[in-house]
Amino acid sequence: MKTYDIAIIGAGPAGATLARELGKKYKVLLVDGRNLDKAPGKVIKNCGGLIAPDAQKALASFGLAIPKSTLVSPQMFSVKVIDFDNSLVQNYQRHYINTDRELFDRWLVGLTNCDKAFGFRFKNAVKKGSFYEITLSKNSQKVLVRADILIGADGANSRVKKLLQDKKEPKKYISIQEWFKNSQNINEYVAIFDKEISDFYSWIIPKENGLIFGTAIEEGKNAAHFHNLQKQKLNALGYNLHASVKKEGCYLFRPRGSRDLTLGKDKIALIGEAAGFISPTSAEGISYAMLSANALAQALIENRENFLKLYSVKCRFLKRNIDLKIAKYPLMYNRFLRRLAISSNIGAIRVSKESFAKASLSLSF
Ligand SMILES: Cc1cc2nc3c(=O)[nH]c(=O)nc-3n(C[C@H](O)[C@H](O)[C@H](O)COP(=O)(O)OP(=O)(O)OC[C@H]3O[C@@H](n4cnc5c(N)ncnc54)[C@H](O)[C@@H]3O)c2cc1C
Repeated sequence: MKTYDIAIIGAGPAGATLARELGKKYKVLLVDGRNLDKAPGKVIKNCGGLIAPDAQKALASFGLAIPKSTLVSPQMFSVKVIDFDNSLVQNYQRHYINTDRELFDRWLVGLTNCDKAFGFRFKNAVKKGSFYEITLSKNSQKVLVRADILIGADGANSRVKKLLQDKKEPKKYISIQEWFKNSQNINEYVAIFDKEISDFYSWIIPKENGLIFGTAIEEGKNAAHFHNLQKQKLNALGYNLHASVKKEGCYLFRPRGSRDLTLGKDKIALIGEAAGFISPTSAEGISYAMLSANALAQALIENRENFLKLYSVKCRFLKRNIDLKIAKYPLMYNRFLRRLAISSNIGAIRVSKESFAKASLSLSF
């Protein structure tokens, strides 16, 4: 049985960042159910693939820059806010980098130097003395490995977190993303607020010749019904979301504050969305994934024996950041305050009527 210092379950931005930073010091195993060492298969991460300024800053702090091969067109400069609750539309300047999320993940994984078990699913871990005996499976094949420390970087539906038997959990949403042809040449990111559909938001993101339309619906509601209803309302407004190419769904977390985060116990730690790190206002999660991984890497490098305590200290800025976003929450999600903010035109892009018709879909309620 192979023995590791650290086994990381999940090779998304959190797991890949941690593996890159720890690979030089420790014997690390990086596990993912996706075949990240082969051509992309059916299982890909359900994500908008937008690299927000916070994620750009995190990458810069690691001395990294995104290669051209991960980018997709168009690179957008604005977000169009469609507010169904107040029948308002407004454009704002935004600086996202539009990437193919699967290629972004593969690029990050390519920067790691450690053992990998790709195409393997993490099933269970049992404490045996000072080690965890970890069961991985691929089809009907079972493999056992040992690790001193186990890391859950396995996203919102974390199986590693279940081992902690921690009842604490951020609010859960079902997120559905549906792909369409970009027949109208949409060249901006669109954020849609509509209380009839969800207390979160929906989005449209152009990707090469395609278009993603996504919704986040509170767990317990009929997600498919509300996703379709939002689509109908957007079609009535002028969008062409008719011929669906593919549809995918997954869980999405939304912390109500830093109290919803779970960092770990004993020799198990959680990072990224598994720990609950994600923006409660925009669902931007890539920066939180990479920064929480970086905080844990520093803790493990500085003090392997007492790393959890140190990890919690090093995450203070991320916890504060989530609490600050909660404080700003009403500006985005309270109907009255949002109406005031949009109607004030503060920070809005003034687009001339002719360029507006050319550059973007004209919408009127
Ligand atoms: C629809 C949608 C759109 C989003 N759009 C954006 C966006 O545009 N920009 C942004 O910044 N954030 C976005 N987010 C949030 C972002 O995707 C996540 O917060 C981020 O990916 C979290 O990174 P992570 O590494 O913690 O987990 P993940 O990226 O979820 O990675 C978890 C990894 O673990 C693997 N895994 C899970 N379980 C197992 C198991 N049992 N065994 C083996 N492997 C396992 C998975 O295959 C996956 O590779 C979006 C989220 C959703 C749902």
